[in-house]
Amino acid sequence: MAVTRRQFMKVSAAGLAASSVGALGFVDAGEALAAGARPYRLEKATETRNACPYCAVACGVLIYSTADGTSKDAKPKVVHIEGDPDHPVNRGTLCPRGAASLGYLHSANRLQYPMHRKPGTDKFERVSWDFALDRIAQLMKEDRDKNFIAKNRDGVTVNRWLSTGFFGGSSLSNEAGWLTYKFVRSTGILALEDQARI
Ligand code: SF4
Repeated sequence: MAVTRRQFMKVSAAGLAASSVGALGFVDAGEALAAGARPYRLEKATETRNACPYCAVACGVLIYSTADGTSKDAKPKVVHIEGDPDHPVNRGTLCPRGAASLGYLHSANRLQYPMHRKPGTDKFERVSWDFALDRIAQLMKEDRDKNFIAKNRDGVTVNRWLSTGFFGGSSLSNEAGWLTYKFVRSTGILALEDQARI
């Protein structure tokens, strides 16, 4: 019979209390202990597998969420994150940064959408992804047109663009990392940095 991790936790909490104390002859005490065992708090949570996004190790995580409210359209809320014991990279372990993921997720300081600071102001305001991508593309184009170096002083073709750099992300897949590398290099950018060391 296949026993899920969740069923195992539930049964073992009650079973251990009942059997170890019961074996000593304290049957009533064992039952009382079993009855007092707290229900597994993630019993009703939805379990989702994912990878920790904070470095290129990409440890496996289990994310537990519950419906936030009773309405059928209620948005799920993440209530717990832990290492995935079945993941070949980390076997259930997480470093302190990964183990603190829940704190980052619910942090009031977490950036969840593009923000723009107009010239001459110290205030950031929320903008759409379309606006942000167009603005980045426009600024990149202007800078490249102004600073692209096709040939060096000896007349050798170099096709360099040294005035703009590019950051990749550690949670990119191999394919997305490869595309990032191809795109950035095709523009002539040399300053490419990425935790995944592509
Ligand atoms: S848990 Fe730590 S080591 Fe693992 S991916 Fe996250 S940040 Fe990297």
